[in-house]
Amino acid sequence: MTRSAFVTRYVYGFDEPAAGGRELLGGKGVGLAEMTQLGVPVPAGFTITTDACRAYLREGEVPAGLDGEVDEHLARLEQQTGKRFGDLEDPLLVSVRSGAAVSMPGMMDSILNLGLSDTAADGLARTTGNPRFARDSYRRLMQMFGEVVDGVDGHRFEQALGDLKRERGVQQDVDLTADDLARLIETYKAIYLQETGGEFPQDARTQLRRAVLAVFESWKNPRAQVYRRTYAIPDDIGTAVNVVQMVFGNKGDRSATGVCFTRNPSTGEQGVYGEYLVNAQGEDVVAGIRTPQPVEEMRARLPEAYDQLLDTMARLEQHYRDMQDIEFTIEEGRLYLLQTRSAKRTAAAALKAAVDMTSEGLIGREEAIARIDPAALDQLLHPMLDPNAEFEVAARGLNASPGAASGAIVLDADTAEERGKAGESVILVGWETSPDDIHGMIQAKGVLTAHGGMTSHAAVVARGMGKPCVAGCDGLTIDAAAHTIRLGGHELREGDTITIDGGTGRVIVGEVALVPPQINEDFETVLGWADDVRRLRVRANADNPEDAAKAREFGAQGIGLCRTEHMFFGDRLPVVQEMILARDEEGRRAALDRLLPFQQSDFEAIFEAMAGLPVTIRLLDPPLHEFLPPIEEATDERMRRRIHALHEENPMLGTRGCRLGIQWPEIYEMQVRAIARAARAVRERTGEAPLVEIMHPLVAFKEELRRLRELTVEIMREEAPEIEYLCGTMIELPRAALRADEIAEYADFFSFGTNDLTQTTLGMSRDDAEGKFLTFYLEDGVLESNPFETLDQSGVGDLMRIGVERGRGAKPGLKLGICGEHGGEPRSVEFCHKLGLDYVSCSPYRVPLARLAAAQAVLKEAHRAEYVAAGG
Ligand code: PEP
Ligand code: MG
Repeated sequence: MTRSAFVTRYVYGFDEPAAGGRELLGGKGVGLAEMTQLGVPVPAGFTITTDACRAYLREGEVPAGLDGEVDEHLARLEQQTGKRFGDLEDPLLVSVRSGAAVSMPGMMDSILNLGLSDTAADGLARTTGNPRFARDSYRRLMQMFGEVVDGVDGHRFEQALGDLKRERGVQQDVDLTADDLARLIETYKAIYLQETGGEFPQDARTQLRRAVLAVFESWKNPRAQVYRRTYAIPDDIGTAVNVVQMVFGNKGDRSATGVCFTRNPSTGEQGVYGEYLVNAQGEDVVAGIRTPQPVEEMRARLPEAYDQLLDTMARLEQHYRDMQDIEFTIEEGRLYLLQTRSAKRTAAAALKAAVDMTSEGLIGREEAIARIDPAALDQLLHPMLDPNAEFEVAARGLNASPGAASGAIVLDADTAEERGKAGESVILVGWETSPDDIHGMIQAKGVLTAHGGMTSHAAVVARGMGKPCVAGCDGLTIDAAAHTIRLGGHELREGDTITIDGGTGRVIVGEVALVPPQINEDFETVLGWADDVRRLRVRANADNPEDAAKAREFGAQGIGLCRTEHMFFGDRLPVVQEMILARDEEGRRAALDRLLPFQQSDFEAIFEAMAGLPVTIRLLDPPLHEFLPPIEEATDERMRRRIHALHEENPMLGTRGCRLGIQWPEIYEMQVRAIARAARAVRERTGEAPLVEIMHPLVAFKEELRRLRELTVEIMREEAPEIEYLCGTMIELPRAALRADEIAEYADFFSFGTNDLTQTTLGMSRDDAEGKFLTFYLEDGVLESNPFETLDQSGVGDLMRIGVERGRGAKPGLKLGICGEHGGEPRSVEFCHKLGLDYVSCSPYRVPLARLAAAQAVLKEAHRAEYVAAGG
């Protein structure tokens, strides 16, 4: 049949090259096609494109031409396999599997064993000489088809299966005989009839057509929607559908099915790492219903298939140059791969695999850097159980996802979501989890399951989220109706506190102290490589010696923002209040004189912690009334009047920042004096002068900075003429960015305060947007991301660009940085690199992330340049 070049083609065989990649064929489809074309053993089949799905979702009907194309490809499949779909003696059976461009594990539906009917099941039993297998396959089809296509409540089938096992006195599904299964089929048929009002469809083509549409429809199911929202996957890309020749892992003792990683997804260590079940079909492994065996066990049981598996995995790693996550089936000793994809892994595993693959020569250093998700580095910085804490381990399970957490036991996802959102720490506890539990997992601090292995749903999803998970915990039983669990020897109620350690699999009753994690060698190695590549320097925001030391340990190259207001609280607050409430300048100065030694010792400690590295100290910024008690607590009338006078309707836009220093210069004088004396003292003590940078906040007019610079220079000259220092300003108001040329005249450096710059550019209060209308904006799609988290590049970013151009235009070589929260957010770091800033400054725990993101920005720029040079 010839087709016009303008007619969209909707179906591709696995052996047919297709332009369009994963966007068109989905991740699974591309993998199957690539493996087929590589010569890896995969079942034959074809992919219905995401174009077809989108057309169906848009129009509500199958696009013209699709049915004909499916028929053609089915005919090819019949040729390739030598069997006929719908045959009643030796039928070709197929599975229908979803597969979007972006991996969404378990979120959409798949149906196996299509093509079986009453008669065909009998035929298959005769042809294979294995009635048990034929009936087991048929009852599975009825169950999956019933649930996915007709929305029959799956529990009814499970219940019938459970009843039969109890009646027959057996534990496992595999212990049911062919006769038992014949009875089960009759029960299933009755359930199907009751629930749908019709007979289970006996025609193979009808089954296939309805199954494909159901997979299209499953794109819209609630759990897939929640997943897409969580991982920012667009709603309109749709899924592809793969129609694949069935191969059988449930044909007896020489058949099996499993999932396997080419390296350990928790640690990154080399070696085959996975689980399999003998005489079972794929969903038995993933659903965590039977606890599977480690894949190494296959070496003794199915040695040939095992060797072939190892060989295939090595080939796949070589081809993709990355760690793979595969699904396989062994049909009577013969291996088939059903899926391969780049493996989801913990940050620790990502680092180890990247470092190892670099030494193995599989990838280069730059690729190793590019592969690590900067945000995932955060996982490594998660807490662990305090090694000195004393506790009794109540039960043990698999160490499914690292990190430790304590929280209240919650037995269902809805409650976990509700209580987690209310700010409570909860641990979601269950027999297993399913994709329907995703909303509860998002809000829980950790997950504990009784069933399932390292590749069960709970384990895979928790690892992706960077949350602790202990799976397959033998000592755990749950009584959901009574809201109780048994954990080892303990009876616990819902709401009681437990602690889980996903790094070791330990479960403890009660709360255990946690400690920050250790950074390992791979972490240092990759960040060392990143340091060689990046141009941006990375500093930290820190205002005490402990944070400064932490920042240094994480590789900070200085302090980019030391907020001095934090030093005005605690036991100093009464003196600060005295200063603010003073009748006149003289009274203020008297109080400030008493504050000075405190400030000086604060600065000395920070300078010493950061010896050899620059420290940017920002003078007092917040509105003064933040330091005052509520008016009701005024002890006399004068105090009441003063508090009243200092009250502001919009304190964020009121008497704060340099406006304080302009109106009451003695405050900034005291601070500069404390800096000067501290620098002097440290130099005398250590022989090394600190690298001091004094920064003035909230400048809008050049006259403000002119006066403040004069004040700074005068005090520094008076107190510490030998100390070199820089005097600069934050750029955190739109006017300052616009008039950066004038302001630069009085500044040695600029630091973009993008928290305030976002607030003032967008007219969105930092304190009143998040959790209120901004949350609505994000949920409703008005905005794609929270501008206080990810820089608004086109708005706020444009002002920054103007600030950079005009500032450096007036003063070439002007030193530029950023110290708003965006300085530790990967996309914003890339933007700062492109703007040509000298450094970013962020919270100490984000320093590693910023180092990596800064290196990735360089690599992306280089790739873009190569692409352009190549005429792209
Ligand atoms: C800013 O505004 O971006 C900033 C760093 O200062 P602060 O958050 O202290 O206002
Ligand atoms: Mg600010």
